[in-house]
Amino acid sequence: MADAISSAPQAGGRPNVDGPVQRPDLGNDPVRLTPVDLSPYADGNCGIPWCLSFSASAPGPHVVLNALMHGNELSGAIVLHRLLQHGLRPRRGRLSFCFANVTACQRFDPTNPTSSRFVDEDLNRVWSPLQLDGRSHSLELDRARQLRPLYESADLLLDLHSMQQDSPPLILSGPAARGSALAESVGLPAWIVADTGHVTGRRLIDYARFAGPGGTAAAILAECGQHWLPETVAVANAITGRFLLAAGCVDIDDLPEPPPPPAAQTRIAVTHAITAQSDAFEFVQPYIGMERIARARTIIAHDDGQPVLTPYDDCVLVMPGREVRFGQTAVRLGRIVR
Ligand SMILES: [Zn+2]
Repeated sequence: MADAISSAPQAGGRPNVDGPVQRPDLGNDPVRLTPVDLSPYADGNCGIPWCLSFSASAPGPHVVLNALMHGNELSGAIVLHRLLQHGLRPRRGRLSFCFANVTACQRFDPTNPTSSRFVDEDLNRVWSPLQLDGRSHSLELDRARQLRPLYESADLLLDLHSMQQDSPPLILSGPAARGSALAESVGLPAWIVADTGHVTGRRLIDYARFAGPGGTAAAILAECGQHWLPETVAVANAITGRFLLAAGCVDIDDLPEPPPPPAAQTRIAVTHAITAQSDAFEFVQPYIGMERIARARTIIAHDDGQPVLTPYDDCVLVMPGREVRFGQTAVRLGRIVR
């Protein structure tokens, strides 16, 4: 699927806001964003490096904005940096800004931009007690243990991500109803996807505090667009603004600019996560995500020569991967709920 978006606009087709377009070695995606200088935040202010936390005197929830869970997903860090430069502080409760995997991001190379997703392992696959309380060590596991107290005290968390494909933005609300409710309260973007994560490990939004039975804390993961496009920063900025207002920790005049109005949202319930059984996983068409496949038993891919079929009519393809390898989530399949 290396040519999956080869028909998408390339260099010169979109505004270049951050200098010359670089050509990466994977997928021919133009890199039009530059990592921000995060060095002012290295020491943090709450005992955790790269984390800043501010409290208001008025009561309210602990709201956490999380960026760089994946080191190559630059847009969230750009938005948080902008809000910090703006001097944003909570009017109610506590507001934390977290740059999760800065070490990976510091290795960002625009000629090989995918390689800085993580250093040792995916930081967004370690959020189970088995791993966090285990004896293993990796750069990401140790960082997760460092971040854990911050997340343990969060009431509302927005985890800002981006995607390989230039897909429509969406929120992954996780398995808990309170995640879907939080996504609906934010009102952007147009797609809300309720899913149960990956077989390869637990995401932060699946962490017990946010998804366990009987809890009240909620977390959502925003996939804001393609990793390195300026439009993705705009989407991340809009979702973050609406999230902060929905959380009630700031007023609209506190933001650098008012966020856009809410959109009509459609909710997808993921029914299947297709995990590649080989390195020879190929989609039959250059899907980018949120395609609706009308008929059941339509072939959407071949995995080591075996057809991958849609299980029901009107099946939505969520976040099809590119260059899918054995054991990776190739695509999720979902039904429209609303
Ligand atoms: Zn990500």
